[in-house]
Amino acid sequence: MAKLVLMTALLLAVLVAACTAKPDGAYQAQPQQLPTNIEQNIAQEQPPQQVQIVQEEKPHEEGAQDRFYYVSRLHWPRMPVTYFIENEEGCGRYEANRIRRAFRDISNATGNAVLFAQANDSGSADIEIRCTFIEDCYELSTDIRDDYVIRTETICQHPLGITKTLAEGNRLTKAYIEMVGLAGFAETKHEGPSGFYVGTCGHTTTEIHELLHAFGYGHSEDNSSIMSPEADVFGLTIQREGACKGSTKAIDAAIVAELVNTYSGKAGN
Ligand SMILES: [Zn+2]
Repeated sequence: MAKLVLMTALLLAVLVAACTAKPDGAYQAQPQQLPTNIEQNIAQEQPPQQVQIVQEEKPHEEGAQDRFYYVSRLHWPRMPVTYFIENEEGCGRYEANRIRRAFRDISNATGNAVLFAQANDSGSADIEIRCTFIEDCYELSTDIRDDYVIRTETICQHPLGITKTLAEGNRLTKAYIEMVGLAGFAETKHEGPSGFYVGTCGHTTTEIHELLHAFGYGHSEDNSSIMSPEADVFGLTIQREGACKGSTKAIDAAIVAELVNTYSGKAGN
């Protein structure tokens, strides 16, 4: 039995349900922090005898490890799912609030079947979130004509969010979310609006999209889906009229139903 547990810990399957959409050239993705294989480290650090003792102390480990063991699709083994915003100060109040709004939006949509709680540190969190900023992506140009001035703001195409999700079998074990804002605004230069607001429409669609990646959902080819890959990438002239119209998306009814089914304990599969 001890061997079995050890083997399971070592045979940690890595699943990357990542937003891999990388617009050409505009943004050089920073090297992702390599996901730490936490369970593997624990198993290696402990001498085998200790593993045995731990197991004797927790005879019902299997059930305790996965509250939703009967669910065959990818799922988190417990509720609430915990998160930690690694550089909350760096994210700035605007984006930190928006991330928390996204948690509430998901909880509300699922009638609180899905809940989030803040972890004490990134190591113990199910979902680690951090904010990064890209340089030289925003441009303001002024075109002076005879009797009027055209000001155009342009934002390079860049990823808005990148998520990596790890799983062991059908159990999700860790997720890393990176939210990407523009440098040169409130968070980096202490002036102007938030670098997470400029060029976006202020809603939580991207945050929710990334969080759903962290729940094991991949991209959808359906443009009306919140899992359409366009939620990950941004690139347009922000003064284009109507750019925000229809850009906010509700979570797909099918995803909501599946989340409720999984985490309210009613699930058959
Ligand atoms: Zn995505």
